[in-house]
Amino acid sequence: MLIEVKAIRKTYVMGETVVPALCGVTLSIDSGEFVAIMGPSGSGKSTLMHLLGLLDVPESGSFMLAGQEISELSEDALAELRGSTIGFVFQQFNLVSRTSALENVALPLLYTASRGRQELPKKILEQVGLSGRIHHKPNELSGGQQQRVAIARSLVNQPKIIFADEPTGNLDSKSQDEIMRIFADLNVQGMTIILVTHEEEVAQYAKRVIKMRDGLVLSDEKNSGNERRVLRTATNLAVWPAALAPAKRRGRFFFSMFEFSAHFKQAFRSLSANKVRTGLSMLGILIGVAAVIAMLALGAGAKAAIEQQLSSMGTNLLVLRSGSRRTGGVSMQSGESARITLSDAINVQKEISAVKQISRSVQGRGQLVYANKNWNTLVNGVDPQYASMRASEPLIGRFFTEEENLKRSRVAVIGQTVVRELFGDKSPIGESIKVNRVSFQVIGILPEKGANSFRDQDDLIVVPLLTAMRRLLGKDYVDSVDIQVVDAEHLEETQDQVQRLVVRSHHLPPSQTDAFEVRNMAELQEALTATSRTMTWLLGSIAAVSLLVGGIGIMNIMLVSVTERTREIGLRKAVGARRFDILAQFLIEATVVSLAGGLAGVALGVGISVLLAQFAGWATQVSLQSILFAAIFSMSVGIGFGFWPARKAAALNPIDALRYE
Ligand code: ADP
Repeated sequence: MLIEVKAIRKTYVMGETVVPALCGVTLSIDSGEFVAIMGPSGSGKSTLMHLLGLLDVPESGSFMLAGQEISELSEDALAELRGSTIGFVFQQFNLVSRTSALENVALPLLYTASRGRQELPKKILEQVGLSGRIHHKPNELSGGQQQRVAIARSLVNQPKIIFADEPTGNLDSKSQDEIMRIFADLNVQGMTIILVTHEEEVAQYAKRVIKMRDGLVLSDEKNSGNERRVLRTATNLAVWPAALAPAKRRGRFFFSMFEFSAHFKQAFRSLSANKVRTGLSMLGILIGVAAVIAMLALGAGAKAAIEQQLSSMGTNLLVLRSGSRRTGGVSMQSGESARITLSDAINVQKEISAVKQISRSVQGRGQLVYANKNWNTLVNGVDPQYASMRASEPLIGRFFTEEENLKRSRVAVIGQTVVRELFGDKSPIGESIKVNRVSFQVIGILPEKGANSFRDQDDLIVVPLLTAMRRLLGKDYVDSVDIQVVDAEHLEETQDQVQRLVVRSHHLPPSQTDAFEVRNMAELQEALTATSRTMTWLLGSIAAVSLLVGGIGIMNIMLVSVTERTREIGLRKAVGARRFDILAQFLIEATVVSLAGGLAGVALGVGISVLLAQFAGWATQVSLQSILFAAIFSMSVGIGFGFWPARKAAALNPIDALRYE
């Protein structure tokens, strides 16, 4: 016996009411039978068919299919058995709308080991008379044609039984006749067919008619008078290659390349079917990833720029300056007392042993003139030690000497920007320029230092300290003193000593110690680096939040997609898809969206970084890590946020999914 059921029962509970759909049905069906199940609406026909077709399980009773007790099988084992032994034909056809007839017929092959069957879908479509419609989509086919595609699909895994639920309910009488002939034909060739119908005319094709009422079998009779009809059918449906081994299952998590590529194709198709929707959900990820890349690039660029500047600043450096004029809320009587004199600096060098060398400096603005060119720039008067302490040894020409300083020589070393503005491509060495109407001779060019966030560090002219004080700026005090300490360990101690020394020599009360300020450049360096690190993290996390939002967008769209395709999921399960197959399908789809968004985001992010560098002049550095990070992150967003919808889809009960409206 192919099918043997004994006293199976099924009740539906809807809130308070309990609906008994099957109240102990017992029957057996042999191989090669053609059975019509008839009865008024609500009599339990469909419920019986769903149980026999393994789409649902009975509450009690026994069900043997080909000698195997069904109640002992797991959900996946049931799916497997469905895929390999049962074909379904539904009233609503249940074709996947976005795919061609051929792909619809090939769908069940996705879930079974399909070696050697690739030619089958086309062959069967030809046999059901659709050779000219193989590449048409369901909406380009008539109802009868769609149902023939569905029949071809039910045959592709060479099942033992075909279940048809009102297969002609949506068809005109001519199509009905065609479809029923195909069934009769299949039966002649030995296929077991179980048909649910309420139309006598359709039931006439069957050899046995089971009538039901109120969940019970009312009558079970042989259908005499059907011989005539069967004889009339034209047996144009050839027996398919029986030599093929029956469809087999692969391991639980085994994923063939065929299946993988089919899921990818499917994902692309369903995504491109909703271009705007897909685009919008991709946009979230795209913006997020682009933001992450651009922000990290900005952060890395800023960090590199700071590091470069710091290295050009000199090492183990303290800078002594006049402090703020207001100390402790009391305004200083005279600015004079807080000014650094030339001898203050000398004392620092003489009295503090850890001081290696010092360079005093005065600053002001200067109007430069060379030939017919004018340029206003920063004038920096310094001691000759400046060159080594501030990493400013000229690459072309030379720095001035102590002798030139003492003689107040009018010699100048100029920055790259000044060279460009006044001389263009010409060599400035040895040329004479005017600084605030005083003639100077250019003796060297400072090495390039680049711009920091405040100013162009190459836009300056460096002259001997005494020359600047007496001849150019008319100052008898210095603005700041660079103090180089022997090593980093003595920095803090020296900082305090310098402070105390100048306060004491200016006879200031202890309350006004901050009339002078000694800055530790190393601390400044650390502060700058820490700030840039904080900024990078801050920008990066803001960008990550937008990625998260993008992920939620994907989740939303996947949920919509699962709901929209509930029937499709039911169908896939009916033709043998297991939970894992459905899960994988939706996960792949979510990943394709997020990864595509991510890759576009990477491109956009890199583009933004390049543009920022080109047009805004901001330092940016795109790192390979940030690209990899963004790509992996966006993929995980797809998998992570796609998981819940995919699980929801996978957990759907096949029969509920198929009935979903
Ligand atoms: P038929 O196919 O003969 O019209 P069904 O097998 O579909 O009958 O239904 C049998 C009975 O079970 C009906 O009373 C129907 O209302 C009830 N029923 C069927 N499916 C469900 C369901 N999913 N939830 C609740 N009741 C159901």
